Amino acid sequence: MSQSPGQPHDQAPGASEAKAGVDPIVPAAERADGAAEDDSEQLPGGESAELLGADGAFAAAIDGFAPREAQQRLAAAVESAIADGAALIGEAGTGVGKTFAYLVPALLCGKKVIVSTGTRHLQDQLFLKDLPRVRDVLGVPLHAALLKGRANYLCRHRLRHARGNPALRDPVLQSQLGTIDAWAAKTRSGDISEVAEIPESAMVWQYVTSNSDFCAEHERDELDDCFVHAARREAQEADLVVVNHHLFLADLAIKEEGYGEVLPSADALILDEAHQLPETAGNFFGERFTSRQLIELARDTIGEQLRDAADAVDLRFAAEGLENASRDLRLAFGVEPRRASWGEVEGDDKLQRALGKLLLAYDELLAQLEPNAARGKGLESCQRRAREQAALLGRFHDASETGTVYWFETYRTGYALSLTPLDVAAPFRKAMAGLPAAWVFTSATLSVGGEFAHFRARLGLPREAREVLLDSPFDYRHNALLYVPQEMPEPNSPGYTRAVLEAALPLIRAAGGRAFLLFTSHRALREAADWLLDRLDLPTFVQGDKPKRELLASFAESGNGVLLGTHSFWEGVDVRGEALQLVVIDKLPFASPGDPVLAARMQAMQRQNLSPFFHYQIPQAVIALKQGAGRLIRDVDDRGVLMLCDPRLISRGYGRVFIHSLPGMSRTRRADTVQRFFARLRQPAGDDPADRHPAIDASATASDVDAHPDQETER
Ligand code: SF4
Repeated sequence: MSQSPGQPHDQAPGASEAKAGVDPIVPAAERADGAAEDDSEQLPGGESAELLGADGAFAAAIDGFAPREAQQRLAAAVESAIADGAALIGEAGTGVGKTFAYLVPALLCGKKVIVSTGTRHLQDQLFLKDLPRVRDVLGVPLHAALLKGRANYLCRHRLRHARGNPALRDPVLQSQLGTIDAWAAKTRSGDISEVAEIPESAMVWQYVTSNSDFCAEHERDELDDCFVHAARREAQEADLVVVNHHLFLADLAIKEEGYGEVLPSADALILDEAHQLPETAGNFFGERFTSRQLIELARDTIGEQLRDAADAVDLRFAAEGLENASRDLRLAFGVEPRRASWGEVEGDDKLQRALGKLLLAYDELLAQLEPNAARGKGLESCQRRAREQAALLGRFHDASETGTVYWFETYRTGYALSLTPLDVAAPFRKAMAGLPAAWVFTSATLSVGGEFAHFRARLGLPREAREVLLDSPFDYRHNALLYVPQEMPEPNSPGYTRAVLEAALPLIRAAGGRAFLLFTSHRALREAADWLLDRLDLPTFVQGDKPKRELLASFAESGNGVLLGTHSFWEGVDVRGEALQLVVIDKLPFASPGDPVLAARMQAMQRQNLSPFFHYQIPQAVIALKQGAGRLIRDVDDRGVLMLCDPRLISRGYGRVFIHSLPGMSRTRRADTVQRFFARLRQPAGDDPADRHPAIDASATASDVDAHPDQETER
């Protein structure tokens, strides 16, 4: 049964531990300041740990709440980091209950705290479910606020403009505008997630949500009914503010979509799902020029010209010329969407000519805006935007900055040109130094082989940052089986996906569906979907057939479904209980070396005589694999098999790093052991403990899955 919404992460283990009779506490490995300590006997001290303990307020107030030593340890570490204004890196395996572990000290500290989560969905869940629960138990009168990026708030000023916009005459858009109008009259927050009838991806929102380009032209004294300003004001006054990484990083990098003044007031910053930060930070410490921004500028200029400078027809022609030049640039990139290094553009005459023409079109537009900008605030804003866009495009024309990756991607009708820092460590470290506060980085997947060196290096974290590494309290050895099939071909051989499917199919049947098949490429996903179509008599759900949330809900509801997905299903997916008992992963998730940013980073490492494979690709892939594998066991009662098909786990020396970074499951290379595991799961539960622990099996508990130490050490 799907459970992500609604069930607090922190309660789950307790509720079912008593039922299953499973010891909830597996001694946690913990290190402070990098030093190994054997203090598993000693419970952590501190107010937060006590409150989360056996005699604490949570056990008293929440039915089925089970104290977990790992949770108490994390809470104690967060509490002391906040008290000392220190940095802390904390990995907490699934089921530790890290949300409560950081919320308790955050609510008790009496300081201003900002909590950032990976997505808006998690942000809402934290603010609407977890936070009120902790606040109620603690009984603290805390003022909390939820703050999202501008684009999540209705702009009444733009809504007024949208009513007369000829581009919105379409009946569907008109009906959506009617819904928004009715909601606008009664909403207090202006947060568009309140409008369940209109998806957040709907085009209409682009016309009526806040956008810094418009805010810049809006008079200060008109801000009384502005939702963005109200949310920002509330965040400034609140004790605890919940944001998401996009907004957090926009603020940190002082980007326009951020708010700037919220972060500096914080005494503590808690970053959940912190494993996402290095990648996401690359986008915010860089720059992006998109055809969409250009088209918005061209169309806004025409709108403002018609309103405030009707006689300036050359201005309209210049705006139309800009849009045409942009379309020509898109055509010059070629029909097929692609993502590549800017180096390809530099050697392509056709693209260079198209880029030159686009820069000339900006010159022409700016020349026409110059005498007209003073005729209206809208035109003035268009002039500012045109200057900024032209300057950014000029940087691509020169492409001379060192330490920066220039790259582009094209879509069906548009394109984006990006400047990404080769390394976010330096700007992130600088931004951290500019915000003297406690910094807590937490996630279920930060370490590689029990070390945080990779995460530290990617964000440039200070040497004195503390560390705490806490295992999941779940009984992986008994409840989960890691299966690496024998005799798999090399992953780059032509029949590889077929071999994965042939090995997986009998196990999918043995599990009665209840399976996730996670692929590392869309090509493999399509091949698998086609191949399984005639062979599986089970409800099958394929990524792309429906929106992700709907697909997951249908999968969980079916009870015997098979779901096929790529990267977006490797993390942030929480299916608990019997609906998911088999996770099949086709290959080790190495990022494609064809990715322009990765390729540039790899070249830079080679110049420093570092092996990009060992220093970058393996650690990245380990973290990605831990995320994918983490889909299997989500609750104390969950049982299942993780099937890792990639033979490099065994044949290459580095395979050990992957295996030893995963939770300590029983391991096997025999399909009949997996069959027996599922056969026991399907038996009605009796008194035999093996019924609850289907992996207890002489052939399975031996660590017969291990990397061969003498094999070659590089791919
Ligand atoms: S400042 Fe004005 S333009 Fe900006 S979001 Fe608020 S109401 Fe809209």
